[in-house]
Parts: sequence; C-alpha cells; structure tokens
Amino acid sequence: MLVVMKAQATEEQIRAVCQKIEELGYRAHSMPGAQRTAIGITGNRGEVEPGTLDEMPGVQELIRVSKPYKLVSRDVKPENTVITFAGTNATFGGPGLAVIAGPCAIESREQTMAVAEQVCRSGAQFFRGGAYKPRTSPYSFQGMGEEGLQIMAEVRDKFGMKIVTEAIDNESLELVEKYADVIQIGARNMQNFSLLKHAGRARKPVLLKRGMSATLEEFLMAAEYVMSEGNYRVILCERGVRTFADHTRNTLDLSIVPAVQRLSHLPIVVDPSHGTGKRNKVTPLSRAAIAVGADGLIVEVHHEPDRALSDGIQSLYPEQFDELMRQVRQIAPVVGRMVPAIGTHPPTPQPPSVRPGVESSISPSV
Ligand code: PEP
Ligand code: MN
Repeated sequence: MLVVMKAQATEEQIRAVCQKIEELGYRAHSMPGAQRTAIGITGNRGEVEPGTLDEMPGVQELIRVSKPYKLVSRDVKPENTVITFAGTNATFGGPGLAVIAGPCAIESREQTMAVAEQVCRSGAQFFRGGAYKPRTSPYSFQGMGEEGLQIMAEVRDKFGMKIVTEAIDNESLELVEKYADVIQIGARNMQNFSLLKHAGRARKPVLLKRGMSATLEEFLMAAEYVMSEGNYRVILCERGVRTFADHTRNTLDLSIVPAVQRLSHLPIVVDPSHGTGKRNKVTPLSRAAIAVGADGLIVEVHHEPDRALSDGIQSLYPEQFDELMRQVRQIAPVVGRMVPAIGTHPPTPQPPSVRPGVESSISPSV
C-alpha cells in the first residue's frame, strides 16, 4: 500500500500520516519526491487495513502496490534516487557518472597507494578494494581485515576519493561501516538476508551486487530487504551472471540496466571486471555500459596485475584505465551524462529525465 500525499501537503500532515500508519502496527517509509511525497507501508502480512488514512488531511489517494517489491519501485518514487556525498560532487544517479576503481584486494600499503595515486589521477571519484575477500577456496588470500580498512581510510585522506569496500558478514559490516563511505555487498551474499537487514540499519550507502544467478525480481527484492530496514541509499550493480558461455568468466547482462531503470528509481552501476573476467574485454564493455545508460562503473585496476593476490587477469593496468576514462568522457555526453572531477566543478544542471529509456514520470500500477 502506498499513501500519495497532495502536492501542497505540509510536513505536519505527512508526519501525522506516518504516525497513524505506525499506530496501525505497520512501518511508514516517507519518500519525498519532486512533485509530492509518497509514504510506503510495509510490515503487513496480508492486506493493509487502511483505517481512516484516506480521510486524513493532505492525503490524495491510497494505492495498492501489486509488485512484491515496494520501496525500490518507481511506483513509490517516480524520480531517480541521487546519492550524494558530503564534501564532494560525486554522486550515484545524478547527471554525473560515478567511477569506482582500484584493486580487487588491498594487499599492502605500498600496493594500495600506488594504485590509488594512478586511478585518482585518471579521474576515479571512488576507490575500491577488498579488505575481506569472499574466495572460492579457503586457502586463497582472505584479505587484510581491519588493517586493510585503515589503509583505505588513508587513501581517502590523501586523495579525497570516497571508499567502497565489501562486508562479508555481520562482524565485518560493523567495521566496514566505520571506515568506508559505501558498503559493498557481494554477489555471493545477495541473498544473505541477515546481512542485508544489517546493511539496512547501517548509516552508509550500500552497493548491492547482483547474485550470479539472480533474476531481476530477486535482485530488486534483495534491495527491498535493505530499504525495508530504513536505509534508502542503495546502489545496484550488475556484475555478470552464470551462463553456458565460457569465453568470459560471467556473461555481463547489460540489458538489466534499462530493465531496472524502468521498474526502480535506484541507481545502477556496471562491473565489467567480474562481468567478463578478461582484461581485454573490460574497456569495450565499459563503453557499452555507459552507452546503455548505467550510472557508473566499478573497475579493477592493479599496478602489477601479474603479481596480484586476486583477480589479476581481469585487472587493468593503470594506463589502460586512463584510456578507459578518456573514452568514457567522450561517450558520456551522447547519453546526457558527464564525469565530474572530484571536488572541483559542480555538476552541470540537466533536465530530470536524462537517462535513456526512463520516462520522467511513470504512473503507479494498482
Ligand atoms: C569484488 O568486487 O571484488 C567481488 C568479489 O565481486 P563479486 O561479489 O561481484 O564477485
Ligand atoms: Mn575481484
């Protein structure tokens, strides 16, 4: 159920409706939009019993939401969600593309600083690197843990890039939340519902990777888990799915980008590194991701990929990443986007519906 407030509804009226929803035993999620505020109702087992909600001052209408996901849906919020970061003009979901780059894993201070310096110079606004690595083999390098997070925090201080790093369980989540700017939930954990709920209580945005065999609906339902706990800052990430094809590590499903944008207001970025598993395919697929309308990229880069402790074969050399950025900057304006430099130019104002395939307003399905 969705309560659509009138355009001129006051803050007080919105608060009163939220309070009424909570009194009825449900949870209220107020979603302010450009035209009006919608209030999503969750926590119901069967049909929501709306009581006198539709007679309350400021209420325009009550809408039954037919889809299993509610808060991620454009029915609740027609405008794109834009995630911003204090002290920088980097965003997810705005006209500016978000570029996240860095090694698969934090291996040492020297390695991290070497890669950070180069990707920063090329224009990445976000730095990635795993301190906790979900490895297929228990004997493979598992990450540096908290020490790795401390090194990443140093990267932020030194270069001004925001930090994106993965939490693999509830313990690491607490530490990742403390040190990072964006909490990554990996493909293998997309349906770890306990972890998703914990991430939903965190105060940092969550980058949620698509599970390797997740359908669009399962992917959106995973995001719904995070949002249902009150964390509305979710970034979706396509990273390839398992298919019969063996010329790449995974099959990068770029068609999910417009599919997500049709159904959801959440930003979606693409990971061409895990999506292909091959260095020589990362730049072509990055170009395609931007052309298809993705809100950004997450790319693995290593200064010595042959010596990397994980994912060296899909990691770009820094010079290749530099060239990738040059190409992305050229493609971005074709689809109404640009790549903001960290902390310098304010993003150029753009009309609201700059994403290809996204109508400026989609009427709710009832
Ligand atoms: C990663 O980003 O390093 C990673 C492990 O990705 P995924 O969860 O997509 O495999
Ligand atoms: Mn990796």
